[in-house]
Amino acid sequence: MYVGHYAIGLAIKARRPELPALPILLGVGFIDILDGLFVMVGIDRMTPNLAAGPYLFFDLTFIDWDHSLLMAIFWSLVWGACFLKDRSVALVAALAALSHFVADWPVHNRDLAWFPYSANHMGLGLWGRLGTGAWVLEGLFAAALVSYAWRSSARRGVSLVWPAVLLFVLFMQLSPWLSPMRFIAQLDEPAAHLLGGALVTLGFILPGLLMTWLLDRADRAASRDDAGRGA
Ligand SMILES: [Zn+2]
Repeated sequence: MYVGHYAIGLAIKARRPELPALPILLGVGFIDILDGLFVMVGIDRMTPNLAAGPYLFFDLTFIDWDHSLLMAIFWSLVWGACFLKDRSVALVAALAALSHFVADWPVHNRDLAWFPYSANHMGLGLWGRLGTGAWVLEGLFAAALVSYAWRSSARRGVSLVWPAVLLFVLFMQLSPWLSPMRFIAQLDEPAAHLLGGALVTLGFILPGLLMTWLLDRADRAASRDDAGRGA
């Protein structure tokens, strides 16, 4: 899942507007940030498969060190611990990180282990079953969450127009037709897994930081308006 993670982040931030955006918006992608790094160093394996669709074009052959239930819990606690100065920030950051595994479960093709090297794997497999339909469903799921975040933020005078625009651009960019992963999957190894891993990591760090900046900016604009009205 891709934009769905960010939509969950926007909904969490809208629910707890007093908390900083960064632990939430980087938190929802933390497990994929690690995944890309682990693929690059060879701890995890993803295998090019143009038939895998709908936008990844890789089979996630072995991702147990981040995308297993046990490791997802472990890494979520690690992410939360980064913010222990404030316990409610730490708790929400950890929950945001753990939401990644939960949101991945419906789309992943039985590549989610219970713990590293466990024989049994989970995942409802919508990517494999529905292909492009899974991408559409993810878009609808994200739209529903964004509309919740939008309405709840609007009540505080905060406009989510730019975060929503960014989410839409990300959704189109990682579509079955425009996904850069399709081209990367056609490269020879080791370029395929090195670039593929780099893109997964950067695909969650850069938009996460940009989304954080846009949310902070929207908050500042709303408080300026408040101050203006008070004057
Ligand atoms: Zn993931």
